[in-house]
Amino acid sequence: MPEIAFVNDAFLPLAEARVSVEDRGFQFGDGVYELLRVYAGAPFHPAEHLGRLEQSARAIGIPLSFTRDRWTAVIAEAIARSGFPDAKVYIQVTRGVAPRDHVPPGSVTPTVVVTVRAMAPPAAELYANGAAVVTVADLRWTRCDIKSIGLLANVLTKQQAKEKGAVEALFVRDGAVLEGATSNVMTVKNRCLVTPPEGPLLLSGVTRKVVLGLALEAGVAVKEQPVAEAELYAAAEVFLTGTTIEVLPVVRVNGRPIGAGVPGPVTKLMMARFREAHG
Ligand code: PLP
Repeated sequence: MPEIAFVNDAFLPLAEARVSVEDRGFQFGDGVYELLRVYAGAPFHPAEHLGRLEQSARAIGIPLSFTRDRWTAVIAEAIARSGFPDAKVYIQVTRGVAPRDHVPPGSVTPTVVVTVRAMAPPAAELYANGAAVVTVADLRWTRCDIKSIGLLANVLTKQQAKEKGAVEALFVRDGAVLEGATSNVMTVKNRCLVTPPEGPLLLSGVTRKVVLGLALEAGVAVKEQPVAEAELYAAAEVFLTGTTIEVLPVVRVNGRPIGAGVPGPVTKLMMARFREAHG
């Protein structure tokens, strides 16, 4: 089955897709992106992802000419052309192609790229036994609510986590745990789900929002409030949420066991509810 790309209005095999070296995404990381999961041929919560794409683009002044209907049609066609029932759809919009100059040109057509690849889920063992994470000082800028393609801090942080045998690194700023390099973080205390509030210092995760809704439906209380690093270690349970990892139990932070050191009951409940939610 083919991996598919859509580049500036044309579908083609991913291996043949090209953008200019003068693209501002390549030159400056001047662009935004989204990643959607496809389950059994259907994109998961596309309206939320497209809404966030629009917000990110608006925040950095990239005009999006695509309507929701156009995005929906392009995504559907890309999925159909690929034929992957379980896939990840990556959307990238950059400011466009222009001679290199930090100051953006007055008028430029944004570059739009959509790719579809098969989804290889993380190892089942991670969900059964839980994952290890580490904490790192947050070196990112203060507009982490924008899903920018400028991901250098996330890349270096993820590499550091890997070198320490961890699957994720949690960013800590001024003593508060904010989110992972590619995920949001949730803690459980007295059967209440506590997660850092939305704001400029973290990404409003689509999975985060879905999981908070599922928690309330399941009778689990939810508090969106700052989480100090010390509260992370003291939590009964910790888990991560994200488009590719879904709901992932965390059992060690910086080598210290969380709760009983195994995935806890609220985490397991949320894993089960999330699986039901995407069929
Ligand atoms: N936070 C960051 C920094 C991310 O990169 C991601 C996903 O890539 C998330 C949180 C989780 O967001 P979502 O659930 O929308 O995938």
